[in-house]
Amino acid sequence: MGRSPPSRTLGELTFAEISRYLKETSILCLPVGAIEQHGLHLPLNTDVVVAEELTRRIVARWGNDLDLWQLPTVAISLSREHDWAPGTMCLTLESFIALLEDIAREIVRALPARNLVIVNGHGGNRGILENLVRELHGDCGINACVIHPLDLSKAERTSKSPDVHGGEGETSMMLALAPHLVRRDQIGRTKEPLDQKAIEALVFDRGTTWPWRTDDPRLAARGVIGDAHAASSEFGERIVDSIVAEVRPVLDRLLENQRLARGAGDAKALAQPADRGAPAAPRRRRRALRARTSTHSGNRPRPRPPGRS
Ligand SMILES: [Zn+2]
Repeated sequence: MGRSPPSRTLGELTFAEISRYLKETSILCLPVGAIEQHGLHLPLNTDVVVAEELTRRIVARWGNDLDLWQLPTVAISLSREHDWAPGTMCLTLESFIALLEDIAREIVRALPARNLVIVNGHGGNRGILENLVRELHGDCGINACVIHPLDLSKAERTSKSPDVHGGEGETSMMLALAPHLVRRDQIGRTKEPLDQKAIEALVFDRGTTWPWRTDDPRLAARGVIGDAHAASSEFGERIVDSIVAEVRPVLDRLLENQRLARGAGDAKALAQPADRGAPAAPRRRRRALRARTSTHSGNRPRPRPPGRS
């Protein structure tokens, strides 16, 4: 590779630099945010700022060691639980899935890199993304994982109240990452939710999934579920530092998975040279065909043909 790249933000490279610097083992980092209400004290783009800034810090910290690249942010996602509030904007499930699948296909077509870390800034995307990374692996040959930053952080909270939305964690991160966007004078106007039992049952119970919303007066006060009073920029910095540190073993694991998958693929090909597998479903066959149109086939390994046809 030689000289270090002029930038690790993908969109700031030229097309010639893509070919010069990116490899199959490069790791692409995709921030996924949301445009949704975050109470009276935080802006609609809180999840965008958090996902994007965290990605920037992760790439700054580990980029040269592990060859990380920051992709453009997906800024609108799945925010139905907040759609009572002006300004909240949502994609449908179908559009969100299609958007991410299209991005995955474009990665395969336009870039040599086959590793992807989705930095998920919005908890409401979690269920879909967990399923989607399996599809990206199976259908596009992309070695992917999703990180959920606040769950990855090991920084100890001070408040005892549940921290779901616009509370101690998110407000602290915004105080650390974009303090000019926090309406500090409005923090005092949010108050504790009334019904902790309802929060336990509707939000946190792993045995049942509920379509909970932030206009439910049992759960939220002015759109917030959590204690924003307890927030501080110092705690926000501790969260951010912890996430950046905790991401390192995730990145190592991702690369290990890629190494193992390539080894397993080679062994399988050697063991079963005549086995062409089951016929692919039409949707998968289309994807496979598109994946094969990669402009980055060259001497680099092609994406694993899904289902084989
Ligand atoms: Zn948020």
